[in-house]
Formats: sequence, C-alpha cells, structure tokens
Amino acid sequence: MSGFLDKLKDFFTVPEGSSSKFVKFNVICARCGEEIPVRASKTSDISRVYEGEGPAGAEYFLRKEILGNNCNNLIYISIYFGPGYKVISREITGGEFAD
Ligand SMILES: [Zn+2]
Repeated sequence: MSGFLDKLKDFFTVPEGSSSKFVKFNVICARCGEEIPVRASKTSDISRVYEGEGPAGAEYFLRKEILGNNCNNLIYISIYFGPGYKVISREITGGEFAD
C-alpha cells in the first residue's frame, strides 16, 4: 500500500533550488496581461553553450515559445545562463518577464 503512495509523493514533490530539473519563472502576456508560469527542463529545453557562443560566461541557453490560456499571443524568450543557471542575458518578444 505504501509503495504506490510513496511513488506518487515523489512525482509531485519537485525539489527546489539548483538541484531541480527545471528552471522556473513567470512571464506576462503583452496582449492580455496574463501571468504565465514557465517551467523549462534543464535536460530537454536548455542546451549547452559552446565556447565562443553567446555573451561572456554563458554556459546554457534556453529558447522557448510560450502560449497562455487567455489568448493566442505567442511569446518568444531566449535566455543565457551562467554557472548555476544564473541568468546573465535574456530577451523576450510578445510579453515581459514578471520579475
Ligand atoms: Zn495573452
């Protein structure tokens, strides 16, 4: 009995901080003002930056299209991360970053 529940608990408990498999942030839709939570997977959404690419110190790169629930405005983001997934450069069209 406990085995199944333990697995469920693991599934819903996402560790926070640098050990998380996801980078999380919010964006705001420029058309309708909806605040949209974004979850980018470090393994499938974020790619490694090779030497000579991107801004100085960049290690990871994320490019993503985001669609909210309220309208069909597509938001495009591109973010460069340094060590520890610290944001060092970011661009957005169709919306703005919430923080
Ligand atoms: Zn919208």
